[in-house]
Amino acid sequence: MPSPPEDCIFCALVAEGDHVARGEGFVAVKDINPMSETHLLVLPERHVDTFKEIDAFPDEEAGRMLRFVADTAKGAGLENYRVLVNVGAGAGQTIFHLHWHVLGGRTDAGRIASALAAEEAA
Ligand code: AMP
Ligand code: ZN
Repeated sequence: MPSPPEDCIFCALVAEGDHVARGEGFVAVKDINPMSETHLLVLPERHVDTFKEIDAFPDEEAGRMLRFVADTAKGAGLENYRVLVNVGAGAGQTIFHLHWHVLGGRTDAGRIASALAAEEAA
């Protein structure tokens, strides 16, 4: 397995971030620039660039990752929420360490609209 980039900020967050939840192989943190009332990020401890490399996870680990996403939302008290993965720069991915956005509560529609507009302009 190739070693992760030394400058990956999400590898650093996995190692020493403020984790709101932790599972075997995964952590959840608060997004630093939230798009909704609750905006969490689920990060696999293992560095994988994008969702396209999902095959890097054995089926059992991929299943546990999804369950951890659901458990994180539940632990945050969310009944209704969105789960989002941006895959590739053209789809808005800015940090190339796979992560799952968990968005609950009121969403800042203006932020989402301007992010989409910036992508289209890119
Ligand atoms: P994406 O655009 O899908 O790659 O999402 C990256 C997300 O990471 C954005 O929502 C950022 O606000 C968030 N982010 C960037 N740096 C940090 C950080 N140090 N701690 C928590 N969230 C971060
Ligand atoms: Zn990483």
